[in-house]
Amino acid sequence: SQWDSEIEHFAAGFNYGRFSDVTEKSKQCEITCYTNEKLSDALLTVRRILEENRDQQADLMLMPQELTTDGIGKNAAIESRNAYEVFNHFFGEIPIRNINISQQPQVSIAASWPTLIFLPFTAFYDESVRQRLFEPVIGLRDYGEWEFYHEGVASHEIAHQWWAHSVMTSSYHDAWLNEGFATYSEALHLQVTKGTDDFKRYMRNLRRQVFSDVGNGMSLAELGPIWLGVRLSSLDIPQGRHLIYVKGAYVLHMLRMMLFDYSKKSDECFIKMMKDYVRTYTGKVATTEDFKNVVEKHFDRSMDWFFDQWVYGTEIPIYSFNYDIEEAGGDYFLTITALQNNVSSSFEMPIPFVVNFKNGHAVVHLTLKGNEAMAKQFHLPQEPISIEANPWNAVLCTIVQ
Ligand SMILES: [Zn+2]
Repeated sequence: SQWDSEIEHFAAGFNYGRFSDVTEKSKQCEITCYTNEKLSDALLTVRRILEENRDQQADLMLMPQELTTDGIGKNAAIESRNAYEVFNHFFGEIPIRNINISQQPQVSIAASWPTLIFLPFTAFYDESVRQRLFEPVIGLRDYGEWEFYHEGVASHEIAHQWWAHSVMTSSYHDAWLNEGFATYSEALHLQVTKGTDDFKRYMRNLRRQVFSDVGNGMSLAELGPIWLGVRLSSLDIPQGRHLIYVKGAYVLHMLRMMLFDYSKKSDECFIKMMKDYVRTYTGKVATTEDFKNVVEKHFDRSMDWFFDQWVYGTEIPIYSFNYDIEEAGGDYFLTITALQNNVSSSFEMPIPFVVNFKNGHAVVHLTLKGNEAMAKQFHLPQEPISIEANPWNAVLCTIVQ
């Protein structure tokens, strides 16, 4: 067959063979997933193993006849449509409403273009199926710290329809706005579809990656500010740019947590800010400073301090906390003594604490500056049962006792 283009292209890709397609629609989007009609050798092998092992069929709740490319296509389309709806809720509408997804036979490669996504076929089976059937058979690569790769890959690539293809960037300095935001979008999708425990597990996993050892006693975070983008990678440390994904996601998470309304458990302010950003920059190129301007509008204050610390800087604080509870005439007073370390004298960050009561809870904040200890007393309405510092990893930090 022949393909002509009137304009010049940097690259072109072609899928060939016979396809099945399945479409999932909602009010907001239409997602069509294309899969090969014929089973790949890898899937045929997995199916044979499953056919021979009835215990495993029951255990995995998966019948051999369900292991088809059509089945995968349906899953992929549903999963992607759900992700689209979650992001539509958090970030607002984008002009890209029809997306085509192509299954590709590599187990760990995905990519996103405007309206077109390549996903690995392995992404649409749940963890137990992948681990027990796919890994021994087709040697899925060991993801190590990146344990959420398959859970997040579809939503990550869908998120790029917002972060890269609707709101664009042009400099490597601003690449964290694409990759950090797409990575955090995975977390939001997990929170909505699987619950807060998975969300928290995901954020703990990202945190571990921020602090992961890159050799010579250095952590990934120490390589440089996320504003350096791809220049964080070097011949010695090729994975350096990974920091824009994991710390970039934390930058957005910290902004969300600062805007979070703990009493109403509401993301209303965060959603308003993100929708404003998407509305303002859809079809345009945004820079880190453009994003900062939108953030400042919604925080109603200068955010130089935050961006200097977390986007243009490399410091990550270490905290230690002490609690003292006093009772006087039926009233309860909580004194939190906190020490911030490992930062320069201008570094400042508000830390939330959840105080749990027999009935309900309260959230109090302490803003720490520099490497100094401070104490603050809070009048509580009831006797506190427990205190949790930094809930939901609201601040990227290390806490020592
Ligand atoms: Zn990405």
